[in-house]
Amino acid sequence: METFLESNLKLVNEAAKLLGLSDISYILKPKRIIEVNFPARMDDGKIKYFKGYRVNYNDSRGPAKGGVRFHPNVSVDEVSALALGMALKTSLLKLPFGGGKGGVVVNPKDHSALELERISRGYVRALAFEFDPDIDVPAPDVYTSSREMSWILDELETIKSRHMPAVITGKPLELSGSLGRNYSTAMGGFYILQEYIKNKGMKPEETTIAVQGAGNVGGFLAKIAYDHGYKVVAISDSSGGVYDSKGLNIEDVLNKKLSTGHVEGGKKITNEELLQLDVDVLAPSALENQITKENVSDIRARLILEMANGPVTEEASSILYERGIDSLPDILCNAGGVVVSYFEWVQNRTGEIWSEEEISEKLKKSMTDAFKDVEQIKQDKGTSYKNAAYALALKRIYEAEKMRGNAN
Ligand code: GLU
Repeated sequence: METFLESNLKLVNEAAKLLGLSDISYILKPKRIIEVNFPARMDDGKIKYFKGYRVNYNDSRGPAKGGVRFHPNVSVDEVSALALGMALKTSLLKLPFGGGKGGVVVNPKDHSALELERISRGYVRALAFEFDPDIDVPAPDVYTSSREMSWILDELETIKSRHMPAVITGKPLELSGSLGRNYSTAMGGFYILQEYIKNKGMKPEETTIAVQGAGNVGGFLAKIAYDHGYKVVAISDSSGGVYDSKGLNIEDVLNKKLSTGHVEGGKKITNEELLQLDVDVLAPSALENQITKENVSDIRARLILEMANGPVTEEASSILYERGIDSLPDILCNAGGVVVSYFEWVQNRTGEIWSEEEISEKLKKSMTDAFKDVEQIKQDKGTSYKNAAYALALKRIYEAEKMRGNAN
């Protein structure tokens, strides 16, 4: 199977072909890769070492921007692929940022909250030279949330002896976070879905959705879609899912998840079965490499809404395209998170506080404008949504590099 990084680079190469760009050296390799090995004291009093990364893939359009992931499978290749994705995402959404990503090789489920606090602080102590509102701005990602962002902010501000709220986004409201940030990724994806079904003449109440993942992205997406009358027939977490052809009561399912740790409330299915459901919309909202060359022939959904980063490999994407299944790419569908991160960064730098309505309106406009831009290129070039989105994103990075004198 092609790796996540290989898959992303293949998409970039296809985008270059579409644009007629022969030399894309400026984007083929990350600008900066930092690996750190740092200590953190465990609850038993012993010191343990953890491996962490921060990759700045491209910052021609602004400071590197992107989350920090805590996961046992974190690797330099994965973080690089995600950082490249961020560079493309910020470009597609016209945000004045580049693309970065960080990660720590750790399974958060094996650690207490106190240990996770020491791991978060250890990570940022090792990388304090990198993080700055004008250089590299972290945020939450898989298995990190506003809690970890608070610890990272506090540690950085202690090291630098000053307040610098714009150094990190996804903070809680009490520490200058932005209204709407916690559900912004899901909300952004929902706005894209609304545009898509409007164009197709579909109705929410007749549209069935299966959501893989019940975390910050999948959970909120299922809830928002359910609240807007969509028929959410399946949802899963890392241990499996639930299905009801008549539509699940998502509120109950998510409440059960809160009290028991697992989704409950319908027929039990595996994550693999969820991907194969005959639904209008399949929203993989957890991890990368879920739909690959190996299982793509089992996909029966009409539309894939890529809410996770990299859930469909490049090989699987072209097969879906040939089969007439639309796949709306991650750099578009899940960009709502970084869009509201940008709003948070702007508010922190200006001292302004925007209302939730203002943020929702601005987010909706950013997402629908980007969807329309991508739709236009898709039609002009006669290509897939994914190739169109990558081409548009690459074009803006190319232009920035060219103006800086860094590209042919
Ligand atoms: N981790 C999120 C993403 O993959 C958000 C990044 C950010 O807000 O900087 O887009």
